[in-house]
Amino acid sequence: MTFYQRLYLPEVIRGLLLTFRFLFRKKSTLQYPEEKHTLPVGYRGVPRLVATQDGKERCVACKLCEVVCPPLAIYIEAGEDVDPNVKERVPKVFQIDFGRCINCGFCEEACPVEAIEMSQTYEIVSESREAMVYQKDQLLAIPEDPRRKHLRNI
Ligand code: SF4
Ligand code: SF4
Repeated sequence: MTFYQRLYLPEVIRGLLLTFRFLFRKKSTLQYPEEKHTLPVGYRGVPRLVATQDGKERCVACKLCEVVCPPLAIYIEAGEDVDPNVKERVPKVFQIDFGRCINCGFCEEACPVEAIEMSQTYEIVSESREAMVYQKDQLLAIPEDPRRKHLRNI
């Protein structure tokens, strides 16, 4: 250290000046949870199931998302649609364990029919592990980000 650095005082003053420089800048602190961040479009919250216009799940129970999910958070049981004219396979059971999900987005990338996508929801909390396992209806009820609609191809 130089003699100047050994004095410490100039460095202390330099640090204080730096602090004062930021003191009057725009505040980035939010009063969470009353105030929320505006998240970027590509933000990966928890995955949600996408519904068709008549409110049914788009998923055809191909299980690709289940296979690619690294922490094995997805569980699907395939069944047949009650209306044979629409499609043959539907997920009789579709669960995502948010206690395991790492929000990686692999499920969204693997899905051939864009039936699952990452949402802006990140406040998934519970006092029990069981309640962290979301069922199909709960996954369909997770709100979508309207800014993402144009990103869908189908
Ligand atoms: S985001 Fe990743 S960890 Fe979560 S369900 Fe999808 S593939 Fe699994
Ligand atoms: S990849 Fe898509 S269509 Fe296939 S099971 Fe998963 S959500 Fe359903």
